[in-house]
Amino acid sequence: MRFESKVVLITGGTRGIGRACAERFAREGARVVLCGRDAAVAARVAREIGANTEGLACDVTDASAVEALVAAVEAKYGAIDVLVNNAGVEKNGLLVRMKDADWDAVMRTNMNGTFHFCRAAARGMLRKRSGRIVNVSSVLGLRGQGGQTHYCASKAAIIGFSKAYAKEVASRNITVNVVAPGYTVTEMTAPIPDNLREELLKAIPLHRGAQPEEIASAVAFLASDDAAYITGAVLCVDGGFAM
Ligand code: NDP
Repeated sequence: MRFESKVVLITGGTRGIGRACAERFAREGARVVLCGRDAAVAARVAREIGANTEGLACDVTDASAVEALVAAVEAKYGAIDVLVNNAGVEKNGLLVRMKDADWDAVMRTNMNGTFHFCRAAARGMLRKRSGRIVNVSSVLGLRGQGGQTHYCASKAAIIGFSKAYAKEVASRNITVNVVAPGYTVTEMTAPIPDNLREELLKAIPLHRGAQPEEIASAVAFLASDDAAYITGAVLCVDGGFAM
């Protein structure tokens, strides 16, 4: 029960890694608020998780919607103790043919969304002089991957952003860390063709993908008091892929 009486806000909590994080924090006593783009889906998932979880609609690309969500959560539950920026999208495509719309969609969701939520939650955390922020990047932000320049750029940007913000708020007892998952079994990776999946599994020293719960464990660790002296760190949870 490491998060008893803590208020935890998770973006993209309707499925995959975000949902596993919501389940983990709820199980450990937190008051959890998760968001996704569809109000009904977010509410259903929250109901499935349990009584101390609320699901709300918020598109992370929309700065005013993010401000409104954070204000509503703070008004109802008090300042946010833990912010997990997990919402993300992935697209494939060679740079030579990349459409501006695809580039923008990936950057606006993955990077701008993280920026919007960190900024919106900042006032409450600074006032309270405490906070834990965990931003979900990807090992592809460290290694690069052909056909995903936009995704890799967005995930590398999250790392630079997190290190800079960690320095900015360290004196206020706010930590900012990054979890960089490797291949994880979720809806995002379901379309990978079988032959590519086999190649990928061969390249992972542990020869398997992560379960979302294994990423949630790392997120919960960095959000917990056990990680009070860790900030600006990037924790790869990738079966050894990035080493
Ligand atoms: P999924 O596609 O399964 O889930 C993505 C989540 O993000 C959903 O809850 C979705 O909610 C939400 N989301 C997407 N766009 C928005 C938006 N504009 N506003 C609010 N919510 C949004 O992905 P995963 O669980 O696999 O991935 C979670 C994170 O982990 C992502 O950042 C991803 O890049 C990262 N990651 C994943 C890896 C993997 O192998 N799966 C590996 C490395 C990193 P909804 O559709 O309801 O709006």
